[in-house]
Amino acid sequence: MVNVCTTNATNRVGGRIHTIFLDEDRVEYGAQFLHGDKSDLGQFCHDLTLLSDDHSGEAQGVYIRDDGLEIESHFVVEVDDFVRYTLEECEQYASKNEILHPEVGQNIGQILRTRFIKYLNDKNENERVKNIMEELFDWNIKFLNIDNACLTVDELSAKGWGKFKFVGGQEHSIFKAGYSSVIKAIADSLKQSNLRLSSPVEKVEWRQGISKYDRDLKSVVLILTDNRKIFADCVIITSSLGYLKENHEKIFHPLLPHNLRQGIESLGFGLINKIFLVFDEVWWKAGTKGFQFIWRKDIESNFNPNEKLASWTKYLTGFDILKEDKNGVLLGWIGGRGAHIIETLSEQQVAHDCLKLLKVFLKGKDIPFPRRCMRTRWYNNKYVRGAYSHITTKCDKNDISPANLTEPVWGFTLADNGMKVCNILFKRTLRVYFPKNYK
Ligand SMILES: Cc1cc2nc3c(=O)[nH]c(=O)nc-3n(C[C@H](O)[C@H](O)[C@H](O)COP(=O)(O)OP(=O)(O)OC[C@H]3O[C@@H](n4cnc5c(N)ncnc54)[C@H](O)[C@@H]3O)c2cc1C
Repeated sequence: MVNVCTTNATNRVGGRIHTIFLDEDRVEYGAQFLHGDKSDLGQFCHDLTLLSDDHSGEAQGVYIRDDGLEIESHFVVEVDDFVRYTLEECEQYASKNEILHPEVGQNIGQILRTRFIKYLNDKNENERVKNIMEELFDWNIKFLNIDNACLTVDELSAKGWGKFKFVGGQEHSIFKAGYSSVIKAIADSLKQSNLRLSSPVEKVEWRQGISKYDRDLKSVVLILTDNRKIFADCVIITSSLGYLKENHEKIFHPLLPHNLRQGIESLGFGLINKIFLVFDEVWWKAGTKGFQFIWRKDIESNFNPNEKLASWTKYLTGFDILKEDKNGVLLGWIGGRGAHIIETLSEQQVAHDCLKLLKVFLKGKDIPFPRRCMRTRWYNNKYVRGAYSHITTKCDKNDISPANLTEPVWGFTLADNGMKVCNILFKRTLRVYFPKNYK
């Protein structure tokens, strides 16, 4: 029989899955959607009837420009299609040779920009149309920064793009009782005495050579911050890549093997955050799905000083409408540097800056001050340090793929012909790819 014990640094299970109550409504602080239900996890959710029949989406609604222009939807669709088609082509690059296909060695940003310039030139449109399409392209780039949790799409490897796989099924499933209902179902199935909360692991001591006598002592020892020790044959580490990047050299004794350290350092882990605005009453037209913000290139000169917006708001792609009955709730997604900046601001300041932004884009609308504003701070969480991972161009240079991190760390018994024993395992680091623009 295998004896399993889990430890978590914080006083709850779930990590980046965290459903909270905002007044009487549930909202997701972390993961929002189950991307595809044709997986073991999807089946588990179906078996327990956890999934809602409602299917949500992101980046929906009207695309409006800072001068109040509502962008015609055929432009939105055209630029979305261009980006999606280009990225679908990049999915082929994982298996292509850089000499025969020079684009493979480039980053996602370079490929998108070069092809988009050519696309626009070939179209031979007037200046007004070209401007609108460029502005929509910029919005798509911001969206991709959020979708991949990167500061810029120039960090993303084109060769690595095809390593993401969509598991199939519904693209944006949501949960009847919040995402945390899955975590609860899993945690409830564990023996409660083996679920140790508020128990941060400070050191993982593992043995490379294990004598018969050592095996009685176990091959891995976890030392908690309060000096308690847990002795184990094998440990599965499920901390985020962000946490590992910051701590792997301090935690593991001896250091992890070179390929794993290089994997941790080469793969990317970036930040996105969410902003929730709660209004006492709905002020938008019934049925609106959201507001996406399109910025003109020469925006600074177009603003009069009274309208000057906080610089971080440029990193917000828009707001989705989460709820519109008695009161209204907007959800904004933010990436890039803006995601870091909002962690340093008070929620009152964030609400103030968002209201100004909404008023500039929705010219003439009488928008009340939100009754409540909440913003997440995933970087501030020292056991997470960001949102999720991506494959960088550094991975190409170091010949690293996410599979490197799933390689077990082996020890060897010093008797029995030097049998290999697994000491440490890491969980898979990449979230399942969801192809953008499937709305
Ligand atoms: C804002 C946001 C939106 C997202 N949206 C989506 C989405 O829509 N769909 C999707 O599929 N994914 C999404 N994700 C990503 C998704 O949340 C994560 O990929 C997933 O939750 C990771 O789960 P995990 O258990 O692997 O890691 P985590 O959730 O990070 O759990 C790791 C656990 O390890 C604990 N831990 C860390 N260090 C120690 C230590 N030293 N000792 C003991 N315990 C420790 C932490 O406290 C934590 O509980 C989103 C993430 C964020 C932040």
